[in-house]
Amino acid sequence: MSKDIKYPIAGYAPGHYYCRCSVCGEQFQGDKRAVTCEPCAVQLTDEFESDMERNPCPTLSEMVADTARDEAIRFGMWLTGGNKSIITDWFNKWKEDGES
Ligand SMILES: [Zn+2]
Repeated sequence: MSKDIKYPIAGYAPGHYYCRCSVCGEQFQGDKRAVTCEPCAVQLTDEFESDMERNPCPTLSEMVADTARDEAIRFGMWLTGGNKSIITDWFNKWKEDGES
């Protein structure tokens, strides 16, 4: 780990519930509403941040095609509130594009 993780991150937060990861399908222990295990959430977050550095709207077709990730993002939005505004802004832009 090269950087500290501030929870919650996309789809994962620590907790005492047994959940099944929507990305890899493995069971994990986390927050009641967690939808991804910690390794997957870390990977998703890293992908978001690196995508943001390359292009504000980089992988929309991938995201639309991948409902598991969509679900993880929605959960991350709900869970993080305003803490990860960079992802929120990106997600809102993507959602507008998809609905127009
Ligand atoms: Zn997973």
